[in-house]
Amino acid sequence: MRTKFFRFFALAAGLAVAAPFWAQAPLTPQGGPTPGAAPQSQAESRPRPTETEIWGPIPAVVTPAADCGAPPSDAIVLFDGKDLDEWVSNKDKTPAKWTVADGAMTVVKAEGSIETKRMFQDFQLHVEWKIPADISGSGQGRGNSGVFLASTGPGDDGYELQVLDGYNNPTYVNGMVGSIYKQGIPLVNASRKPGEWQTYDVVWTAPRFNDDGSLKSPPWVTVFYNGVLVQNHFQLQGQTLFIGKPFYKAYTRAPIKLQAHGDKSEPISFRNIWVRELE
Ligand code: MG
Repeated sequence: MRTKFFRFFALAAGLAVAAPFWAQAPLTPQGGPTPGAAPQSQAESRPRPTETEIWGPIPAVVTPAADCGAPPSDAIVLFDGKDLDEWVSNKDKTPAKWTVADGAMTVVKAEGSIETKRMFQDFQLHVEWKIPADISGSGQGRGNSGVFLASTGPGDDGYELQVLDGYNNPTYVNGMVGSIYKQGIPLVNASRKPGEWQTYDVVWTAPRFNDDGSLKSPPWVTVFYNGVLVQNHFQLQGQTLFIGKPFYKAYTRAPIKLQAHGDKSEPISFRNIWVRELE
C-alpha cells in the first residue's frame, strides 16, 4: 500500500514538473499566433527577429586540435597580415580602413563591413579570426562578425557564415558561431576561448540562376570550424536574413565580405585569409 502510494506520488510530482514543458510544445518555431486567437493589432502583427530564433537542442561541445592551415601553392592570398590591398569598403568601394597590426586586421566598426575587390563563384576558403580576450557583452552582442560567402549588396546582403564568441555564450543556435545565419545550425560547437585564434575552412558552391532571375540550383556549404565539421554540404534556402524568410537575389560572381556588426563589444580580428577558386 505504502509503495503504491509513493509510486502515485512520484508520478504526480513528475507530471507537475513536466507540465510547463508540455505547455510550450505546441509553439511553432516561428512563434506564430495560435489558430483562432484574437486578431492582432497592426503593430503586433509586424515581423519580429525573435520569430526566426531557435534555442535548442544545443550542439555538443567538441575540443578542437591545436593546429590548422597555411595557404597551399595555388591559393589566392586575400590577407597575409601586411596590408588590405585586396579589400574595399562595402559601403562605397573605397580602400578598406580597418586596422592592420601584428599580422592581423581588426574591425573598425565605424568604417563598416569590408569586402574583396575580386569576385568569386565556387571556392575553398580559409579564414582565421580571434575574439579579443577582454570581450564583453552577451549573446549576439559578444564578438559578432561574419564571413559572407557572397556579398550581394550593401550591409548584410548575402550569405553569412556567423562569427561570434561561442565559448559559454548562449544564443539562439541558428545564430551561434558556425551557423549559416538563421538557416543552418552547426553540428557541434568547436569553439576556442576568447583570445585564441580560430579557423574556418569553407567549401562554397554558389547558387545558379536562370536568365529570368529564377533559381536554377541552390547554394551548398561545407564548413570546418577549428578543423571540426560543423556544416556538411548544407543546402541554403536563400540569403541569410535577420528578419523574415530567406529569398534569392540573382548573381553570378560576388565579393567575399567581412562583417562590422553594430554591437558594442570589443572588435574582433582576422588573419591568414586565402581562397582557392573551384572550376
Ligand atoms: Mg554576424
